[in-house]
Amino acid sequence: MTGQTSCAESVSPAAVGLLSPEPADQQLARLLNASQRARGAFAGDVLAELDRQETFPSAACQVLNDFGLPVYYVPLQHGGKLNDMTELMQLWRAISRHDLTVAIGHGKTFLGSVCYWLAGSPDQQSRAAKDVINGSVYAWGLTERSHGSDLLAGELTATQQDNGWVLEGEKWLINNASRGQVMCLLARTSPAGGSRGYSLFALDKRLQPGTAFSLLPKVKTHGIRGADISGIALHNAFVPQHAMIGAPGAGLEIVLKALQLTRTACVGLSLGAADQAFEIAVEFMRARALYDNHLIDLPLARATLGEALAMHLCAELVGLAATRSVHALPDEMSMISVIAKAFVPGTVESVIKRLGEMLGARAFLDHVHRDGMYQKLERDHRIVPIFDGSMVVNRSSLITQFPLLTSAWKRARNSAAGLEIVLTPGLDLPAFNPAQLQLIALQGCSVLQGLPKASARIIALAAAKKLPQTVASQCRRLLAHVEALYRELDQYVPTTEGVPDAAFELARQYERCFAGAVCLQFWLFNHTRDDGPALRRKPQWLQACLAWVLGTLGDRTEGEHNAFEALASLLLDHTTEWPVNGISLLRDTPEEAHP
Ligand SMILES: Cc1cc2nc3c(=O)[nH]c(=O)nc-3n(C[C@H](O)[C@H](O)[C@H](O)COP(=O)(O)OP(=O)(O)OC[C@H]3O[C@@H](n4cnc5c(N)ncnc54)[C@H](O)[C@@H]3O)c2cc1C
Repeated sequence: MTGQTSCAESVSPAAVGLLSPEPADQQLARLLNASQRARGAFAGDVLAELDRQETFPSAACQVLNDFGLPVYYVPLQHGGKLNDMTELMQLWRAISRHDLTVAIGHGKTFLGSVCYWLAGSPDQQSRAAKDVINGSVYAWGLTERSHGSDLLAGELTATQQDNGWVLEGEKWLINNASRGQVMCLLARTSPAGGSRGYSLFALDKRLQPGTAFSLLPKVKTHGIRGADISGIALHNAFVPQHAMIGAPGAGLEIVLKALQLTRTACVGLSLGAADQAFEIAVEFMRARALYDNHLIDLPLARATLGEALAMHLCAELVGLAATRSVHALPDEMSMISVIAKAFVPGTVESVIKRLGEMLGARAFLDHVHRDGMYQKLERDHRIVPIFDGSMVVNRSSLITQFPLLTSAWKRARNSAAGLEIVLTPGLDLPAFNPAQLQLIALQGCSVLQGLPKASARIIALAAAKKLPQTVASQCRRLLAHVEALYRELDQYVPTTEGVPDAAFELARQYERCFAGAVCLQFWLFNHTRDDGPALRRKPQWLQACLAWVLGTLGDRTEGEHNAFEALASLLLDHTTEWPVNGISLLRDTPEEAHP
């Protein structure tokens, strides 16, 4: 399908009743918006009060269970509905638009069960699938009090006995450690540790005697205050042999592959937080009268809003690229997942900060404006760039892959077909095959390796007056940055001692270049298609996104910032209502799609 509508025989799908069913995330968004309006479990004041009382939002999680969300945590082949990681990202986004505590509390079951889907035996997978679908809560225990990111330092031990293993030690700062029925634990199985010295175990608390473990107290947190962030201490807890997930010694490898999926899906938490930030900020900016004007009409406010929108759209497209790559470029996920987890939460953090400046004091106050949701949102989102691998941890993982990325760039290797599927939401995705995940991206980065060819097409389109010349010029500049960056990466000498801080700056630039290349190629693949929101086909968003990306690379030409105001005006001036589910290049808002 190309999306061209010129064919005389073409019939509107709606006319013949062939409209595809409403996507799950839009159904969920409708449900949650209705709950909010009806002062149900998703009402802002209800969620804000639970946060103040540091109480877990159980009623909201029950709404999600009633919707059937746990089914989306289980892959299709095991009886669930998970067959598109973008769908999971969008589902979490729909929840995070209302409350991150709920999304993080509920979503943890996916993180806690993902190792089963990657490495469990058929029997383990079938049992876990039924359990998750029935609403059991899972947790994932990697971190210990003395060891966070450094998983190879973990001290919780598993010692082999005749028919199983004895677990001893502590996992701490674990989401759902107390609420959860099952915890997937990384344990040291070889006293010497090392990369083959850890294994994964399922600890089903329902099957353990009370003496086998104690729950550690809930920890008070800066954000997501109602979440169950606690821990567990194991006292010689016996688990049978079949509690081991994967082979002995394979724990770290399974976790590293699982993180490629979880870090990718977590992007939805940030995107939803950004949707909420825009909704609150734009409503305020429209209503706030200042100097005989409205805040929204002041040029600086519009430019700030437009730049934040450009950042948000870049983040959304990087999220799309990452989640669809799970299916179409799985062997690149070791690199794409760390880019997504470093780039998206970090970018959204800046978006929230900038929009917060627009709200003035109201971003800081509780109770006063919109139940104090903005300050809550800002606090809640602080954890997203930290857990599941902090920005620094993700960047250091990217740094270790620099030599492979450089070598693939030199070979000009490019998985063109995979890249087109990744960046064209209207194309069907191949089924996810866990066996294709790799620990390193031997094939390099198709998104950046596709840029030279894409640039030639962009420049030709601009020459044919189908695209503003500005975009062609931005494209040339981006390509020049990418070429210069690869030259620098080529000079980088890997080290096992402390990684130099200059390498982290190169990783930051790599993320920016990746985001710019995603935007450009997304536009190329989609501008002649008629699926998706109308915004996709307008060059203004692309111009603004490239202006932002280039600016973060220290390259902004005079007047280029006008692209931000133009984007804000494009989105504001044709509507009096900000779309309830936010601005998106991925899907029509439900209101548009289902009037
Ligand atoms: C609310 C919340 C929920 C959580 N949920 C879970 C959960 O469900 N399961 C779980 O296992 N864990 C969970 N965690 C733990 C979380 O994943 C860890 O806090 C995180 O991995 C960071 O570990 P750390 O805080 O011990 O810091 P450390 O890893 O000790 O890092 C300390 C500092 O060193 C920096 N650093 C780390 N590595 C490098 C490097 N290579 N180069 C340069 N600097 C580096 C870090 O950026 C940081 O600034 C949760 C934490 C919180 C706060």
